[in-house]
Amino acid sequence: MHVTVIGGGLAGMIAALRLAERGFAVDLYESTSRLGGKAGCNQHGSDFDEHGYHIFPMWCRNIWKLVDELGIAGHFADVEDFVQIERGEFPRNKTLTNLGSARYVFHNLFSGVLPVEEMALFFYSTLDLMSHRFSYRRFLDQTSVKGFVRGRIYRTERVVLQHQDLLLKGINVPSYAVSAMTMRNVLKYWFKYPLPMHRVLKGNLQQLWIEPIEKRMAALGVKIHLGQRLERIETAQGRVTAVHLNSTRHPVERAVVAIPWERLAAILDDDLYRAAPKLFAIRGLNSAAMAALNIYFRGVVPGMPKDHVNVIGGRYGLSFIDVGQWWPEYRGRTVLNAISSNFTALESVSEDVAVREMLDELFEFIPALRDVEIEKTDFQPHVDEPLFMNEVGAWQSRPGAKTELPNLYLAGDCCRNHIDLVSMEGAVSAGLLAAEAVRKDAGSSRPGGDPDSRRVAALAALAAMVLRPARSRRVEADC
Ligand SMILES: Cc1cc2nc3c(=O)[nH]c(=O)nc-3n(C[C@H](O)[C@H](O)[C@H](O)COP(=O)(O)OP(=O)(O)OC[C@H]3O[C@@H](n4cnc5c(N)ncnc54)[C@H](O)[C@@H]3O)c2cc1C
Repeated sequence: MHVTVIGGGLAGMIAALRLAERGFAVDLYESTSRLGGKAGCNQHGSDFDEHGYHIFPMWCRNIWKLVDELGIAGHFADVEDFVQIERGEFPRNKTLTNLGSARYVFHNLFSGVLPVEEMALFFYSTLDLMSHRFSYRRFLDQTSVKGFVRGRIYRTERVVLQHQDLLLKGINVPSYAVSAMTMRNVLKYWFKYPLPMHRVLKGNLQQLWIEPIEKRMAALGVKIHLGQRLERIETAQGRVTAVHLNSTRHPVERAVVAIPWERLAAILDDDLYRAAPKLFAIRGLNSAAMAALNIYFRGVVPGMPKDHVNVIGGRYGLSFIDVGQWWPEYRGRTVLNAISSNFTALESVSEDVAVREMLDELFEFIPALRDVEIEKTDFQPHVDEPLFMNEVGAWQSRPGAKTELPNLYLAGDCCRNHIDLVSMEGAVSAGLLAAEAVRKDAGSSRPGGDPDSRRVAALAALAAMVLRPARSRRVEADC
């Protein structure tokens, strides 16, 4: 049995990996010259420039399972603090620690980020949002986080702003219009797995995270084809018959398409509309550019925090990590990997102007940055690679793993999955769901599925059902 996987981001890689483990012959096609998509980085000389710094929260259960399987737990370091820098305060700052943990409630209440009474209201508003039952999904998905908090009688303007500036930047999603349903789900996961707040890699994404997955895929016989762009999906008699990559036709048995929704939307044509009209609902989705600016200083900027830093109240939604304090190759110098999660205003200006604006904002908040010479900057506007947005109402337009075509499956961070939030765990979960849908449709067994072990597994599953009727929703995509 053969599967064609298109898109070499995390969703496509995980689908390919799990399918190969289940005995499928897999060809993986990726349009660029490397795997990893948004969770990878480009090599420039000896430097690896991240698509954007990435944090790995503890609720990424499928990711941590994979990390254990790959034996790369040692590549990660715990981060407990989320440092808040306000104008005119540096080198002083306010630090929130392990925000989801009850043990740190007092520390965070008295962190000075807000007056104590408003900090208490802020925490109350998160509990209020989390307390909404999942059956309110439709209602919550029609309301933004801001709208939800503004509608509460206890809200203050600063509590509203705190949600915008802190939580939403903490998850690297632009602050406007995010669905209250998504926020509710993320908060629940964060409170369920609070310690440490998240982890970061001790080196770059490509070498420490993407390459180990790539090696495992190669060991399982996945054939990886780089520089192959999907241009058309050919259908006949209600099935996908072939995909066209770089003007070459490839016949298809089953296909998993794991490319961003806007790239898929660009190749939806009349034939596909006749065969799978529901697929066209993805046109109702939205994405936004999240720019990355990596700044290489020649020396150490004194007073730079080691943890994840949030620049409060700036124009461009900047946050960063000083990877000079995590990556061995940059020891002895400051290297900031910064992200702008409010980049819309700068999308059409030249690179020089955008970089100047972002640097000026950083200098304004952290004047010490001016004192150390900048060796170089790497700027990635990502206007052509925007990030799917969990906007109000998006759930309705998000596709599932299965489509109306029985041999076409979708994966990617925009696909429906229990994580909901656009994230690496969301992409991994969607990849797992697609692999599982293919496996079921093909009637294939799980790995190691000889008849005896299948019988044992079935008995174990029955016992688990009897003993744990209230099975956690988090394992929905854990396959
Ligand atoms: C700046 C930034 C910071 C982020 N920070 C975090 C974070 O801290 N924590 C977190 O969990 N998540 C974070 N994310 C989100 C996370 O990176 C993504 O949600 C996830 O990596 C998406 O994976 P994917 O496989 O769905 O899509 P992608 O990574 O976009 O992969 C899709 C792949 O398909 C390829 N492709 C596109 N078109 C075609 C075509 N026509 N033919 C063939 N191939 C094609 C692309 O080149 C790409 O490799 C961040 C995202 C950004 C942009």
